[in-house]
Amino acid sequence: MNPFRKNLDNIISKIEKARIAFSRHQIVHLIAVSKYVNTNDIQTLYDCGQRAFGENKIQDFKTKADTLKELPLQWHMIGSVQENKINALLALKPALLHSLDSLKLAQAIEKRCARDNYNLKALLQINSSEEITKSGVKPQEAFQTYLKILNECPHIKLEGLMSIGAHTEEIKKIEQSFQITKDIFDKLSNYGAKTLSMGMSSDFEIAICYGANMVRIGSALFER
Ligand SMILES: *Cc1c(COP(=O)(O)O)cnc(C)c1O
Repeated sequence: MNPFRKNLDNIISKIEKARIAFSRHQIVHLIAVSKYVNTNDIQTLYDCGQRAFGENKIQDFKTKADTLKELPLQWHMIGSVQENKINALLALKPALLHSLDSLKLAQAIEKRCARDNYNLKALLQINSSEEITKSGVKPQEAFQTYLKILNECPHIKLEGLMSIGAHTEEIKKIEQSFQITKDIFDKLSNYGAKTLSMGMSSDFEIAICYGANMVRIGSALFER
């Protein structure tokens, strides 16, 4: 018995319900966050059909991607990137960097990408709940920062926004934090923003109500 098939089926049907309530035309991509699990578990979920995985530490990303290099997986980087790890990140050629969290980091990445003539797809991370423990650009600065990166960093292909919902049991506060990111995303749709990465195990259905079209789910997928 594949221990994760039931979890995956269950999550996919919840995503389906939520996305159809939002819009029949909304397509939601599921990124399986594998940061808590080993490569055996990743392969087990792969056997259920999952192809996109997310890691939050460059070293783990490298080790797991190396081990599983024969599988046609798509790897997403979802955790903070230190400037001294940029070369290591680019060498891994992530499908998407979700956690571009400052103009300064973008400028440092742009330098490396220009040198290597490499393009990196990325999302600008917004700290919509303004929690000090979270990284990301402040909502008030997000629009300008996004345009600045578009203008100054031609090797960074910005495709949208990422945000982590407010860390609370209060649904209202979680909704507020998603609404803030959604409003910025809508303003940026004229500038090519098309991906809105929001929602984790505890709040992905709410995030989809607020327009998320990419969810990052870890614990609920891999629980036994
Ligand atoms: C860990 C993590 C997730 C997944 O969290 P779960 O609650 O396990 O689903 C999603 N996004 C980011 C940025 C994370 O670090």
